Amino acid sequence: MFESLSERLESAFKQLKGEGRISEINVATTVKEIRRALVDADVNYKIAKEFTDKVKDKALGEKVITAISPSQLMVKIVKDELAELMGNTEVELDIKANPTVILIAGLQGSGKTTFSGKLANFLKTQKNKKPLLVAADIYRPAAIDQLKVLGGQIGVEVYSEPENKNAVQIAENAIKQAKAQGYNIVIIDTAGRLAVDEVMMTEVANVKAAVQPQEILFVVDSMTGQDAVNTAKAFNDRLDFTGVVLTKLDGDTRGGAALTIKYTVNKPIKFVSMGEKLDTLDVFYPERMAQRILGMGDITTLVERAQAQFNEEQAKKLEKKIRQNQFDFDDFKEQLQQIKKMGSIKDLLGMIPGVGKAVKDLDISDDSFKGIEAMINSMTPAERANPDLIDGSRRKRIAKGAGKEITDVNQFMKQFEQMRQMMKMMNKIPGGAKGLKMRG
Ligand code: GDP
Repeated sequence: MFESLSERLESAFKQLKGEGRISEINVATTVKEIRRALVDADVNYKIAKEFTDKVKDKALGEKVITAISPSQLMVKIVKDELAELMGNTEVELDIKANPTVILIAGLQGSGKTTFSGKLANFLKTQKNKKPLLVAADIYRPAAIDQLKVLGGQIGVEVYSEPENKNAVQIAENAIKQAKAQGYNIVIIDTAGRLAVDEVMMTEVANVKAAVQPQEILFVVDSMTGQDAVNTAKAFNDRLDFTGVVLTKLDGDTRGGAALTIKYTVNKPIKFVSMGEKLDTLDVFYPERMAQRILGMGDITTLVERAQAQFNEEQAKKLEKKIRQNQFDFDDFKEQLQQIKKMGSIKDLLGMIPGVGKAVKDLDISDDSFKGIEAMINSMTPAERANPDLIDGSRRKRIAKGAGKEITDVNQFMKQFEQMRQMMKMMNKIPGGAKGLKMRG
């Protein structure tokens, strides 16, 4: 994410390396570089200029503290300003009303329908809500089907009226049904057009007027840079939306939209979407995003994703198995699947400070797990539960079944064995892995 911007900023800070203190001259050069980096990331010049003017004033106004080098100080100032530009603190969805109506608007292809599914899943799994998805796109029958498929995947009901060509009526009927059947969230996915267009705007505005939503979320493809910002302006003038959703942040986006939408329309970014999987939705935290841009990683989000995936009961079961030296291939596979649910491996690695940059050019595909899974899959249930059974001839059979070489199986078995040995050793420490953690 925003790799080029991160690199350029890093090289701007390098200008200050070795400098003993901040001075007019060295700050001017650094600031100029930062401005160029921002403009190249598709940040509008005026905003970039205002940004660097502030950075410069702050840097020159700082008291000289010998413990902090000028480059460290600059990183801190830029981080604070980036966070400020993106809104500083997160703004939560207002979901107190029962039912809460959330209207989703944006151009066609921006990721509206996918986001509607992700949001429903988020509210269901993380906020214990009972959402109803509403297909209010009256022009594309395929949009209704798409939403139904998504709803099916996450176990959320989808309301639609394929014959009805009145989006306002559909929305109103859906809310009636929600009230009658105890849904406490209604997410209305509206029709989009390829470009800002009067008919579309009027329709969404009419739905808004009729259903008085608590939240109107504007969905925008972050890959479209400055265009995204202009579209946001047009939608906000008409709809006065309550928040922005940036999609496709997993793609090769330069960062301009994320950095300047808040400034331009003065509405908070509430969510960022990073992938096509339905559980890759993140609440937007300006501070953490600023840290990520500056290569400081984002451990907090990593931990939260892990917490969302791993449940207490499973963890206890696993701990018990490890304690009794019973960790087997079924457990291993289960762990792999949970990690995969947290997002793409590259994305996850990118959240670890310093690692994102190191792995950015490596081809780390999630396929690397496939070989391992294939090997586990070609084991018999008895072998999975009792890895010690797996002798030479069984290894040969497993390799064949998985389309792998016997050396691959040997290597995997060796690694698995090492892992089990490590678990055994941890068990010898009083209190086990837990004891280890307590002692720091
Ligand atoms: P809509 O026309 O606004 O409803 O857009 P869709 O939800 O149909 O999304 C358009 C395309 O973008 C689809 O192929 C989605 O799978 C894809 N998409 C949506 N969100 C994301 C995202 O966060 N990352 C990536 N890589 N693709 C996305």
